[in-house]
Amino acid sequence: MSDTLHIIGGGLAGSEAAWQAAEAGVPVVLHEMRPVRGTEAHITDGLAELVCSNSFRSDDWENNAVGLLHEEMRRAGSLIMRSADAHRLPAGGALAVDRVPFSETITRTLEAHPKIAIAREEIAGLPPEDWRSTIIATGPLTSPPLADAVRTLTGEESLSFFDAIAPIVNRDTIDFETCWMQSRYDKGDGADYVNCPMNREQYEAFIAALLAGEKTDFKEWETLTPYFEGCLPIEVMASRGPETLRFGPMKPVGLHDPRKSERPYAVVQLRQDNALGTLWNMVGFQTKLKHGEQARIFHMIPGLENATFARLGGLHRNTFINSPRLLDRELRLKARPSLRFAGQVTGVEGYVESAAIGLLAGRFASAELQGRPGALPPATTALGALLGHITGGADAKTFQPMNVNFGLFPEPPPKTKGKDRKRAQSHRAIADLAGWLGTKEAAE
Ligand SMILES: Cc1cc2nc3c(=O)[nH]c(=O)nc-3n(C[C@H](O)[C@H](O)[C@H](O)COP(=O)(O)OP(=O)(O)OC[C@H]3O[C@@H](n4cnc5c(N)ncnc54)[C@H](O)[C@@H]3O)c2cc1C
Repeated sequence: MSDTLHIIGGGLAGSEAAWQAAEAGVPVVLHEMRPVRGTEAHITDGLAELVCSNSFRSDDWENNAVGLLHEEMRRAGSLIMRSADAHRLPAGGALAVDRVPFSETITRTLEAHPKIAIAREEIAGLPPEDWRSTIIATGPLTSPPLADAVRTLTGEESLSFFDAIAPIVNRDTIDFETCWMQSRYDKGDGADYVNCPMNREQYEAFIAALLAGEKTDFKEWETLTPYFEGCLPIEVMASRGPETLRFGPMKPVGLHDPRKSERPYAVVQLRQDNALGTLWNMVGFQTKLKHGEQARIFHMIPGLENATFARLGGLHRNTFINSPRLLDRELRLKARPSLRFAGQVTGVEGYVESAAIGLLAGRFASAELQGRPGALPPATTALGALLGHITGGADAKTFQPMNVNFGLFPEPPPKTKGKDRKRAQSHRAIADLAGWLGTKEAAE
């Protein structure tokens, strides 16, 4: 078997993985199906094409988790970040990118790299057994033959077609003077859910706001994807009748507000979403309301008036695997360790997060091929927190795609609050990253 690394998919993750491995001295073949076969969203032949917005979101490394991820990736020699910085557009505190030269720079750089060969072909099934090491980085629009092969290998349920996601709330912004912990009918541990009670007036005002709220437009191809009846957006349920939600995800049965004698008229429930208990998912609240509308309308929910959201809801077609169940800590498929996964297909969400997992997969695979130990990034870094979430921290039963956010990090040093809390986490991350990268660099 050769020491070549095969990477399937030349998107954000595959391009970064190829760069990291080649820079470590490993020969890489990058297999990209465009232009031989297109996807519903890509429109060019370029590597690392940005399919929708041109934003890498906040670039504030001290106060924002995605900004911290940018900074960690820069320090780890990321090609995606180098090209984004080179083609930066004015956008306040955000890192916006001039998408065409961004993608052209990455394409040219990878084409010119002496260790990289680019094969423009679709890999229409599992890679041959004699490929010693492969990274599958085929994204949310993985071509159907490969998606089918992965589904067969991992089990029918494992490769999900995801239609809608519900918002996730940061626990420390929930008002527990109004909410209480209880499972419906006291099942399980009896106190597994956060409950936000509504009276009749509050419920009716909430339903009216949902119906009037501005919705995201579907792209033409997305209109062909039907809703899954078991996972309808809440505004679609609300449009079927004013009582639908009260008999669905907002039903009040089996729940007793300990501060009141009467049963609430309706209840919004939140379920724990990560092992640390810092993130809570709004149960049944998948939605395609516009993001600004979600924040406005969900702040009407008693107890969530001041909530901040680690992720807002959204709706689009997406293929991803159940990474917490299927992958080991180094992103290898437990059932076939010569296969690694990287990018959005692992259940991270966003351009930067996809590239970050590509960076890690490229480093792990090259270390393995060169017989070096593959060190995991510390859990206190954004890279380590994101990796830890998808490979074990998240609950496999409710696993849904996730952006990087401070809720995934271990607690900051004691007695730090608000902005100081995030700064403490960010400075700790940069200091710990330096050790992982093997540099003496310290946080400024
Ligand atoms: C419609 C849509 C809009 C999105 N908008 C945003 C946004 O605005 N902001 C954001 O941060 N994130 C967005 N995302 C989510 C995500 O960040 C992007 O999809 C991102 O490109 C994921 O990076 P990736 O490397 O995992 O996949 P991709 O960048 O999609 O790369 C995967 C590559 O694999 C290739 N490929 C697929 N199957 C095969 C095969 N069998 N053989 C060979 N090659 C193959 C594809 O052609 C593609 O080039 C969006 C996703 C979708 C689907």
